[in-house]
Amino acid sequence: MGIDYQPESTTIRTDVLVVGSGPIGAIYARKLVEAGHKVLMVDAGAQETEIPGEHKKNITDMTLNDFSNVIQNDLTPLSSSMPSAAATLAIGGMSTHWTCVTASPHPNLEAPKLFSESKWNSLISEAQDLLHTNSTVLDASTRQDNLKNFLNASGHSFKSTPLACQKDENGKVIYSSTASILSPILSSKNFTLLPHHLCTNLHNQNSKVTSASLTSLSTNSKISVIAEQYILAAGAVLTPQIIYNSNMSQELPALGRYLTERMVAFCQIKLDKKFSVNDGEVNIMQGASEGKKWVTMINREAHQYGQLPEDVDSGDVLDVRCMSVVEPNVENRVEFGEKGSDGMPTPSFKVSPSIYDMKLAAKMMVEVQSLATTLGSFVTEPTIMPLGTALHLSGTTRAGESVETSVVDSNSKVWGVDNLYLGGCGVIAEGMACQPTLTAVGYALQGAEGVKTALSA
Ligand SMILES: Cc1cc2nc3c(=O)[nH]c(=O)nc-3n(C[C@H](O)[C@H](O)[C@H](O)COP(=O)(O)OP(=O)(O)OC[C@H]3O[C@@H](n4cnc5c(N)ncnc54)[C@H](O)[C@@H]3O)c2cc1C
Repeated sequence: MGIDYQPESTTIRTDVLVVGSGPIGAIYARKLVEAGHKVLMVDAGAQETEIPGEHKKNITDMTLNDFSNVIQNDLTPLSSSMPSAAATLAIGGMSTHWTCVTASPHPNLEAPKLFSESKWNSLISEAQDLLHTNSTVLDASTRQDNLKNFLNASGHSFKSTPLACQKDENGKVIYSSTASILSPILSSKNFTLLPHHLCTNLHNQNSKVTSASLTSLSTNSKISVIAEQYILAAGAVLTPQIIYNSNMSQELPALGRYLTERMVAFCQIKLDKKFSVNDGEVNIMQGASEGKKWVTMINREAHQYGQLPEDVDSGDVLDVRCMSVVEPNVENRVEFGEKGSDGMPTPSFKVSPSIYDMKLAAKMMVEVQSLATTLGSFVTEPTIMPLGTALHLSGTTRAGESVETSVVDSNSKVWGVDNLYLGGCGVIAEGMACQPTLTAVGYALQGAEGVKTALSA
């Protein structure tokens, strides 16, 4: 424990407060502790694993159906206006059960326009290192090779999916999460992690945050944190919730707006016998391109949906999934209303896919259908999943060049507030098809540089 924290004390002082212990809060904490700063990280969720924020797949040997049930139980829906959108309230956030896909965004279609190409490439490269991204973990699978070669011979460009994981000395795959990001700093005297502490609001005076209010969810006591720099990394909906509850939304017209969420086309297939060398997993993907503004994944992974009936032999079943680029639109937004049982304003979504989004969704359905019938037969028919299913909500605290159309600058610092930085998929300004966490880590690495500079000044 780095800070002088007594459960009964009412004020804590630290260099940096990080709210949220998902992978993005963890990246900020790691970079700042490694630079010699004192960091207090708080999370509303409980510590559910012995090592804080461990990926639950690393500690249990479960069937995919069972792990899907774990994910379902871990997700807390955010609003009846988009029932599939959810948060994971736990130390480690969603990284305790994410599927670890960390493909780089397409340089023209998806990568942030705020950074030069060389700057962005160096941020992404560091992000990949920190998450242990690699594409070779499943490369011993003949079935994966067969599928890739077969599809690419007919004009596709599938590659092994880049995954955030590594093999240990026994060959076991260890999935990256908050635990792996925090591991070098976990025992540092400069790092303190408090589970079960809800950050309710920030106090702001003369363009500076002066303190943050926390509620201990175990004792219901109130704690004030006085820090030099504040970082909110509480997810794409719950980060703007804290800002809204701090009465700061009037100066930030883009807060909650430009929300993007990928459309998902999904089906499951029984693989034709000609591919069915059952010698290992398949996890291949095709990135978005100018001609096809969606990613296509072929794999079998645990999500909160897609459980197979017990009588289906899962050995030859694969998921086929496409996710589209959705153009940011100022009208698509999350708003906050009356306070809920946790004392926080309740989110509600006002999001309608555009005609363009719907046309892309229709094209994805054709793609899913065509891949499925080429590779085998349907176990579940293709469908467009309810909006929010991707759990990749982005854009609600987007980075940009002016306060009119964005919430933070290129260092993820909130416009008009000297010492408040944000992190997470909310800062992603572009509509993206590929999975967003790697990009959010890229932004956070740049944000951490901004915080370090501010602390040294
Ligand atoms: C099943 C599943 C599969 C996924 N697969 C992928 C994938 O393959 N690739 C990919 O890129 N992304 C994937 N994602 C999404 C990915 O997990 C998220 O993008 C990532 O976890 C976001 O990190 P974060 O740190 O910004 O937020 P989160 O992981 O959501 O963490 C936010 C934390 O903030 C805490 N918090 C919220 N409000 C407060 C408050 N007021 N006070 C204190 N603490 C608070 C929460 O408890 C939570 O722990 C997946 C998600 C799920 C659920």
